[in-house]
Amino acid sequence: MTTVLLMGPPGAGKGTHAGHLAGRLGVPVISTGDLFRRNIAEGTELGQTAQKYLDAGEYVPDEVTNGMVRDRLAAPDARPGFVLDGYPRTLDQAGVLDELLREQGRSLTAALVLQVHVDALVGRLLRRAEIEHRSDDTEEVIRRRFEIYHEQTAPLIDFYATRGIHHEIDASADIETVRSHVTQVALQLKPAA
Ligand code: ADP
Repeated sequence: MTTVLLMGPPGAGKGTHAGHLAGRLGVPVISTGDLFRRNIAEGTELGQTAQKYLDAGEYVPDEVTNGMVRDRLAAPDARPGFVLDGYPRTLDQAGVLDELLREQGRSLTAALVLQVHVDALVGRLLRRAEIEHRSDDTEEVIRRRFEIYHEQTAPLIDFYATRGIHHEIDASADIETVRSHVTQVALQLKPAA
């Protein structure tokens, strides 16, 4: 059972590497950003609540996010493990995740932290904006997402480091290089349960 969390600032490549890693491990990716975008596209009530937060680059309130993750983690395909992308993003969410996993008799194997210098990130996100047309990839919203990441999510690195399950990965190299580093680290992990 491998339960991995991919962390990193906006534009670090979490989605790209989560997909590949999940394929190698034979587990699903659970991406809160993608779950929110799907709900928005489908016009669900959750999507309607989430939309204004995504558009502003703010975090969706924990009670909405945690409930969505609780349901997703309970799905049968997540039983053999998962790669989490974009959750947890606050210390409160990290506590909730621990609790959810404990209820299921498992725990987090590792937190992989993708590190990229901020200057490179803005360029990447603005290029992605041209391709994907995400409503939150404008310069102003990108700036806000970085601020919130540093305020609310970066403290999670220490939280997992203290627990001895964090691994820093230099994600400034090209995709292939980072991908093989991520895979190498993940395949050496000792499954938690
Ligand atoms: P990025 O990492 O590039 O910001 P994501 O797709 O992971 O992109 O997230 C997009 C947006 O979805 C976030 O800015 C936030 O509004 C919302 N979101 C995603 N995950 C969470 C979470 N764990 N808690 C609260 N909001 C979230």
